[in-house]
Amino acid sequence: MIAPDAGAAVLDRQRRAFLRDGAPSRQVRKDRLRRLRAAVLAHRAEISAAVSADFGHRSRHETELMELVPAIQAIDYLIRNLRRFMRPERRHVGITYRTGRAYVAYQPKGVVGVMAPWNYPVSLTLVPLATALAAGNRVLLKPSELTPRTSEVLQGLLAEAFSDEEVAVVLGGADVGAGFSALPFDHLLFTGSTAVGRKVMAAAAQNLVPVTLELGGKSPAIIAPGHVNDRTLSSLVFGKLSNAGQTCVAPDYALVHQDDLQAFIEAYGAAVERAYPAGPTSPDYSTIINDRHFARLRGLLDDARAKGAQVLEVGAHPQGAAARERTLTPTLVIDAHDEMTVMQEEIFGPILPVRTYRTIDEVVAYVNANPRPLALYWFGDEDADCVSLLSRTTSGNVGLNNTLMHVAQDDLPFGGVGPSGMGAYHGIEGFRSMSHAKGVFVQGRWNAASLVRAPFGRLADRVL
Ligand code: NAD
Repeated sequence: MIAPDAGAAVLDRQRRAFLRDGAPSRQVRKDRLRRLRAAVLAHRAEISAAVSADFGHRSRHETELMELVPAIQAIDYLIRNLRRFMRPERRHVGITYRTGRAYVAYQPKGVVGVMAPWNYPVSLTLVPLATALAAGNRVLLKPSELTPRTSEVLQGLLAEAFSDEEVAVVLGGADVGAGFSALPFDHLLFTGSTAVGRKVMAAAAQNLVPVTLELGGKSPAIIAPGHVNDRTLSSLVFGKLSNAGQTCVAPDYALVHQDDLQAFIEAYGAAVERAYPAGPTSPDYSTIINDRHFARLRGLLDDARAKGAQVLEVGAHPQGAAARERTLTPTLVIDAHDEMTVMQEEIFGPILPVRTYRTIDEVVAYVNANPRPLALYWFGDEDADCVSLLSRTTSGNVGLNNTLMHVAQDDLPFGGVGPSGMGAYHGIEGFRSMSHAKGVFVQGRWNAASLVRAPFGRLADRVL
């Protein structure tokens, strides 16, 4: 029995509207995407203010650059590529079936459910939404309860831009999430933790609802020998400390060549100081989302200390500046090993454990001994070691000499593999994951296969 507030009634209305109207034309889809774009831009200030209030502190600029720009960029990409994505695809026809024609028609699945997390509450709601709309679907959204103000602003602006037969928002916590994931959608895209992803997939399986799971994990950053330099470290710090590390594709831990460890520690500190000159009180340094996560992160550090790690707070420590609530100083954990919780769980905070290695084989063995990550980062040349690493490890995506930027490539599929996720969105893969690829065969005037009619006996004897 699904709770009425989990969205069962509105799903039913959306499905009836979808069946009534059929697949929308390119013009209708473009119009929906343009309405979404306009609504987001019209409410831009309100959105950033809500996100800041939900986090305690997150700068308007960070929200604009890390959430609104990618969302608008994704909408523009979808509008620009809609004709190409929607075009039916001609397929090969075997000699016995000529003069028939075969093609694939990409038709909307119907009603898509989207479940979003709190860490990028705007882009991780809007980009799946835009993808589902581009593919011609109706959409029911369930944003996170940990960012309630943002969820309400999104609900309001979407209600202004769309009828609830097109797009609707369901608000609530884990109980509503559980009911939502048990609804008979035509597709369900979930972004969140691996643990909840498992439950969501189990619930969806009851209705055989296909899922895209965008999950988390521990993404390694590997620094090649001799590649500890300002460029490497500024990219690493950007990936690790944006949103105070609360990023699914943040480099979770670093693997540094043993001869470079000291240089790495110094360069990391310098890069943190360049990016956040006022230390944890810098305007662009975000707070941790809530007390539970703050306590969890402090617990990771206590555990690492107790098990023999060197825990180093890095960057500037200005005297007298008022510390914000739930602000965790950027921290390195040196000599991290596998018995420490910090090497077992996704960190999701501004803590970077560092392990040293001697050879690329050691790196490959370490990555492969752990669950397949969402992202893998290599800082170094595209040399034999890099080729060996990429060909012998499996990760959702890869960044070479950068962090996070693969997510901003609208034309690349984005997703995990194994425990870090299933399926992908962005690019044509996103459009297709929310479309049904319907194979169509059109009979020609005559073909050899038309001879296949009962009684079969004489024909079978001749063919074989
Ligand atoms: P979460 O799994 O706790 O919550 C995600 C959504 O699921 C929320 O809407 C929540 O209300 C709902 N939910 C919670 N419990 C539920 C239940 N029992 N049944 C059904 N729904 C439930 O994740 P979070 O804490 O919001 O986000 C952080 C996690 O998300 C991290 O693991 C991070 O790596 C991952 N993440 C992944 C990506 C990606 O694109 N792969 C992006 C961002 C975050």
